[in-house]
Amino acid sequence: MKVPMVDMLAGYPPIKDEIEAAVKNVFDKAHFILGEDVTKFEKDFAAHNGAKYAIGVANGTDALRMAYIASGIKAGDEVITSPFTFIATSETISQIGAVPVFADIDPVNYTLDPKSVEKKITRKTKAIVPVHLYGMPADMDAIMAIAKKHNLIVIEDTAQAFTGKYKVNGGDWKYLGNIGTCGTFSFFPAKNLGAFGDGGAITTNDEKVYETLKQLRNHGSKVRYHHEMEGYNSRLDTVQAAVLGVRLKHVEKWTEMRNAVAAKYAEQLREVCTVPVVPANCRHSFNYYTIRFDSKAKRDNAQKHLTEVGIANQIYYPIALHLQEAYAHLGGKRGDLPNCDKVMDTVFSLPMYPELTDEQIKAVTDAVKASLK
Ligand SMILES: *Cc1c(COP(=O)(O)O)cnc(C)c1O
Repeated sequence: MKVPMVDMLAGYPPIKDEIEAAVKNVFDKAHFILGEDVTKFEKDFAAHNGAKYAIGVANGTDALRMAYIASGIKAGDEVITSPFTFIATSETISQIGAVPVFADIDPVNYTLDPKSVEKKITRKTKAIVPVHLYGMPADMDAIMAIAKKHNLIVIEDTAQAFTGKYKVNGGDWKYLGNIGTCGTFSFFPAKNLGAFGDGGAITTNDEKVYETLKQLRNHGSKVRYHHEMEGYNSRLDTVQAAVLGVRLKHVEKWTEMRNAVAAKYAEQLREVCTVPVVPANCRHSFNYYTIRFDSKAKRDNAQKHLTEVGIANQIYYPIALHLQEAYAHLGGKRGDLPNCDKVMDTVFSLPMYPELTDEQIKAVTDAVKASLK
């Protein structure tokens, strides 16, 4: 049985009419840049997250870039982040003249290890960027405590974790992205809230940061042709905002469905490999479902076998950032971040989307088990 990694159309029929009406409405009004649909989506998205402000931008990469600038990260600053993420997290640090510093990850949840973060702090450190990888919340209590102690900015890369939640200091549940100064989101089609193209957003509770972000995404201007600073052309596309407005209403249900798929995977696989364990203070959004084997040979064999039988699979990420050619100048090598080295050699991501059927799940778990025989 063929199983794709994601199936963008599986959840489409029930909302097709609503989406087509929303898109047609944008065409009829011919208001294609910002406008009502973007403003409404920003309000709804902020409300969903319990954030004061949300700002729609062109993609999740620009969301990071502008969140870094608006929150006060400058050229020469050091920014501590995870080596086990997509390069968007770190390339945007370098591109504003700051320096990415990679700390090690936790061997169980694969997000930033707070103890390693603390060891990387220098006089130049300005910010910490935790990544809620695969939809699993980073250890935010410990990260926020370190940030407070050393007076550091925290930007949450929430590209894979919209609808994920964290129980802050054992108290209130907060949506991810709403704990640090800014949360950054991607609406790339395969993310939890996918657009029909590119899109992104930033949330914040800081009015000054919000005002700066609004300028940054629109050439540094609040009033047309008045530029208090230089900025970017990075607005959330109006057609995408209309699509996202419809999909937003369904996303919580989709996350419940993803969690149900994850539970079924875990039931079948926990005997044969390491499955994600969600701590009691976390809600996982399962953008990806990632298992881990006790050797690289087993992982590579699983990859070969699943591919042969038509089951899509992926390694997020086969080469950690500190070992990428793009960061050779930082001098990273194997052994510097031992947890990360071990994890990248043994993780393996399975198909994950809300509508996966029991038959598909069985085909996937049977194939994983067969690869181990
Ligand atoms: C997808 C992703 C991004 C970038 O988002 P785009 O919308 O593709 O620019 C950033 N960080 C992480 C962790 C991601 O998974």
